Amino acid sequence: MIPNFPFSKDLNVYLLRLPVLRREDRITLIGNIDPVTVFLQGSEEDMRHSVQEAYQEAYDAPAGFILRSGCQVPYQTFALPYEQELIRHINHYTSDVSLHICGHITKVLPLIGQTGASALSVDQNVDLEIAKQELGDQMVIMGNVDPVAVLCQGSPDLVAEKVKACYAKGKDSPKGFILRSGCGVPYNTPIENIKTYLQVAREEGEK
Ligand SMILES: [Zn+2]
Repeated sequence: MIPNFPFSKDLNVYLLRLPVLRREDRITLIGNIDPVTVFLQGSEEDMRHSVQEAYQEAYDAPAGFILRSGCQVPYQTFALPYEQELIRHINHYTSDVSLHICGHITKVLPLIGQTGASALSVDQNVDLEIAKQELGDQMVIMGNVDPVAVLCQGSPDLVAEKVKACYAKGKDSPKGFILRSGCGVPYNTPIENIKTYLQVAREEGEK
């Protein structure tokens, strides 16, 4: 048994935070599986349960659903084997697995190619240019507008500038590029910043 299953709580955050955007059916929901509670402390059965429960809850989301994990422990020993195992399980449901890892992961980018994920989401601590060079020919690169300093605390002009900068680096990535916030978007992010982010993203994506 996994007490206080973390996925449901996180999913509700996304559902509650983006009601306006969700009505447009353009937002992909993201659910998290806690790498420590489930991977390191749980059994294989716990992990299977977590993945199945996540998909039962969100598989019919209008614009799609992504299940992800993250980990900030020594990567090769404590994260990579479990991420490989999780992705193997998720691949029973879909082959479109995206992996998000918070923080300074530049040094482990070469290892991430071994996870089996089809996309990697990086936060603002990783240079998209380097991520593209290391993994762009293996997986889709996603990122990485700073959710706090830019999306939450910045002006709409700063948001527009950073979105354009992300596209400038990522758009020619061989397997593709998806603009994304560097990590979870804070509750008190101004809606004007979100609208600017989406508007500029659409403009840049159509260029
Ligand atoms: Zn993150």
